[in-house]
Amino acid sequence: MTKKTETIAKTIKAQLSQMTAKGCSYADARLYDENHNERLILYDGNLESNAGSFERGIGVRVLNQGAWGFAATADLGSIAACFEQAFANASAAAKLRGFRVDMGPAKPVKGKYRPPVEKDPFGVPLAEKLDFLKRVDESLKDSSIAQRLVAANFQRRRILFWNSEGTEIERWLFNTFGNMMVMTPDKEGRSQRRSMELYGNGTGTRGWEWLTDPDWFSGHAERLKQELSEIVAADPLPPGKRDLIILPAQGFLQVHETIGHALELDRILGYELSFAGGSHVRPEMIGKLRYGSEKLNARAGVVENSPGTFGYDDEGTPQRDYLLIDKGILVNVLCSRTDLAEANAKAGREVVKESGTAARATAFYRTPIDRMTNVNIDPGEDGTLEDIIADTEDGIIVETPVSWSIGSNREHFHFGTEIAWEVKDGKKTRVYKNSTYQGHTLEFWSSLDKVGDKSTWRLQQVPNCGKGEPNQLMELGHGIPVMRFRNVQTGEKE
Ligand SMILES: [Zn+2]
Repeated sequence: MTKKTETIAKTIKAQLSQMTAKGCSYADARLYDENHNERLILYDGNLESNAGSFERGIGVRVLNQGAWGFAATADLGSIAACFEQAFANASAAAKLRGFRVDMGPAKPVKGKYRPPVEKDPFGVPLAEKLDFLKRVDESLKDSSIAQRLVAANFQRRRILFWNSEGTEIERWLFNTFGNMMVMTPDKEGRSQRRSMELYGNGTGTRGWEWLTDPDWFSGHAERLKQELSEIVAADPLPPGKRDLIILPAQGFLQVHETIGHALELDRILGYELSFAGGSHVRPEMIGKLRYGSEKLNARAGVVENSPGTFGYDDEGTPQRDYLLIDKGILVNVLCSRTDLAEANAKAGREVVKESGTAARATAFYRTPIDRMTNVNIDPGEDGTLEDIIADTEDGIIVETPVSWSIGSNREHFHFGTEIAWEVKDGKKTRVYKNSTYQGHTLEFWSSLDKVGDKSTWRLQQVPNCGKGEPNQLMELGHGIPVMRFRNVQTGEKE
């Protein structure tokens, strides 16, 4: 802590005591000592975006008479005024309050977190970053490719947290994202594409060295070009019911949309209805609902290297690894301390025991809401991708979302994918274009009958999950194995 930050910390702690003295049952403050973002985009080799931002400020929450008040300021000379504003907002909100918020028992902690990073991307000169992206772009060039996109995004945040219970946390967060795409029209004039995001296996370090490791990113350029040429020459996927093998670069979105969002407790309680939507899950279903087959084990995981791993959430609770779905049964949800009591009251029994450490905010001027952490699927015991293909008589393998449409309560979905490979009698055969599939969430997860082993498991990054009003774009991860579903509706009827 620098001398200046120490003075700020002192002021914040005094203000937190002041809020308790004024009758608040809880108060907290997040100081974003620094929040750097950088985004670089090359489109057809031209620099389309070189955008950077820096933010510094404080966000304050106070809980008075069971109602929240929030205020934020970038003026670190007026911290007391910021607390006063939050207190006034809470007093106003108390008059309109619905359920009385109860944070439950205090569990003060003191802690630090820093993700594993070898080379801070903000220490790498811009010229070196652009050189790297240009080399990736060069490797995507081909006479058969109409358009190319290569992009990278870097984040570095230092966040200090205090609450009225004595919790003090210092966190560094680093994120490195990369994606590339090649596009070309097919003979009907419809644009086809092949793309990928920088991914991992959940271990290693997450700085500049991750992006520049060819295994996780640049080494895939040739394959993407090759696959696009196969897609462009391919027939559309004939409609029909067949087995569906989902690779992790598609499975992450399936999990994100039909498990992750559906299990956010604020959505379950209806707080997101006017924006992101609700959930087909009701509080009383937690602990009872059969969400999928016995093969389905989903967890809010703590993975060493993922944007969904952050040490402590924005209520200062140490991040926990816990099952959401255990052998197909819904056993827990993504929640914060804030909405536990309400869920239990509405269910008429204790359905959620403790914070799911899912309170996250994207900036000092946004209040924490229930977010996905790492919503992962545990690896299974059905072997490698090759084993699963060999066991499939009539199916397709799909990868990479190109379109998605999801019921506002996440009860049904329709996905389009960049590519599909036919599987006939245990062999991967031809490529199909315009592949789609659809289903009802619970029916679909109940048809899960093969889950690949650890060799098939990948950590996929999500840099842009949107939620909240005003919107908060959050980063997270999904660790996903290869999965097979039986008898799925695929393709579009003419
Ligand atoms: Zn999302």
